[in-house]
Amino acid sequence: MKVLVLGAGQLARMMSLAGTPLNLKVSAYDVNSDTIVDPVTQQKLGTGLAQAIANADVITSEFEHIPYPVQELCQQSGKFLPNSTAIKAGGDRRQEKQLLDKAGVTNAAYRIVVTEQDFYQAIEQLGLPLVLKSALAGYDGKGQWRLKTQSDAQGVWADIQQFMAGADHTLPQAIVAEQFVRFDREVSLVGARNQAGDMVVYPLTENHHVSGVLAVSLALPGQQELQQQARQMFEAVATALDYVGVLALEFFQVGDQLLVNEIAPRVHNSGHWTQQGADTCQFENHLRAVCGLPLGSTDLVRPTLMVNILGEDHVSPAVLTLPSCHLHWYGKGKRPGRKMGHINLSATSTSELAQRFDLLRPHLPEDEFPELELVAARLK
Ligand code: ATP
Ligand code: MG
Ligand code: MG
Repeated sequence: MKVLVLGAGQLARMMSLAGTPLNLKVSAYDVNSDTIVDPVTQQKLGTGLAQAIANADVITSEFEHIPYPVQELCQQSGKFLPNSTAIKAGGDRRQEKQLLDKAGVTNAAYRIVVTEQDFYQAIEQLGLPLVLKSALAGYDGKGQWRLKTQSDAQGVWADIQQFMAGADHTLPQAIVAEQFVRFDREVSLVGARNQAGDMVVYPLTENHHVSGVLAVSLALPGQQELQQQARQMFEAVATALDYVGVLALEFFQVGDQLLVNEIAPRVHNSGHWTQQGADTCQFENHLRAVCGLPLGSTDLVRPTLMVNILGEDHVSPAVLTLPSCHLHWYGKGKRPGRKMGHINLSATSTSELAQRFDLLRPHLPEDEFPELELVAARLK
């Protein structure tokens, strides 16, 4: 089967690598340059969306910020999985919040803000602190403001107005004002749903961020009750969307309760550990789901952690001498803070993973150090 991925980044690349043994041919449509490329080699294969759609048996996406006209054409072809409603819900926080409410899953209290009056009303009704997020185009913590005290309100509103004036969106812009959640930790659940409505989910993953960007994910055994809670929310959201493919839910954990932060209608960075730590990796399961193949087991086969390599195009080859340590480069040009690759580290037990992590740490980029310290403590 021929699978077309909207977006030609590392997620399309890893889908292609996972699909090859199943004889699935993955090409990628770069929405910025209107070209069709091989997502592994970046070699140009053709031009134009119409040609890309005509050549594909199935169309899917590696990110949620796909221009609506591109989504319309894909949806009309009858080959687009997950559907355009799901992609739009991931790309517009207004639709996302509506979806979460409709699916009945707990999420942070919010108000939609368009005018200055809405802004001050949100402060009054939700209280401080607030997290304000651009409804459109947000990722890696971009397009967000924190409002802690009433005296900062005027300045934050000025920043938001400036942002909204500068945004080059054809869609109406707005802000989602959210109550600040004092969470104990952040976790995510990655799972897959097929066309018959069968669902499988991976074990909950604990996530650590540096400056709003994911730095480390941990997949450890246990946490049965939370897993059950997360699974129910996953099923509610995936069913509400008639979703097909891999879907990720990000959560805040407060005590023993989970609140959904946001969803990602695609394979997700916090699921990269599945390449070495799960029976079937998320990339293969996504392809299986959209291609109508049976879903694979999501069992954790061994405790695994993933470290993102941010802004560096080199790590010492010595990491490859560590037991169960695997390096995945994306072949992208170096830019400060950019996701360039990741490392998966596995072990037979959490304590052995702690030992191996101590061996890995000296080789890791320094700007992730505060989080690495936390992760080391967490494993002990
Ligand atoms: P991603 O790269 O995960 O798509 P994003 O730009 O879509 O990121 P969010 O996940 O919404 O942004 O927020 C980024 C981070 O900011 C969260 O992981 C969390 O640490 C913090 N955050 C977001 N919303 C809240 C909130 N309501 N209360 C407290 N912290 C929050
Ligand atoms: Mg996001
Ligand atoms: Mg997020």
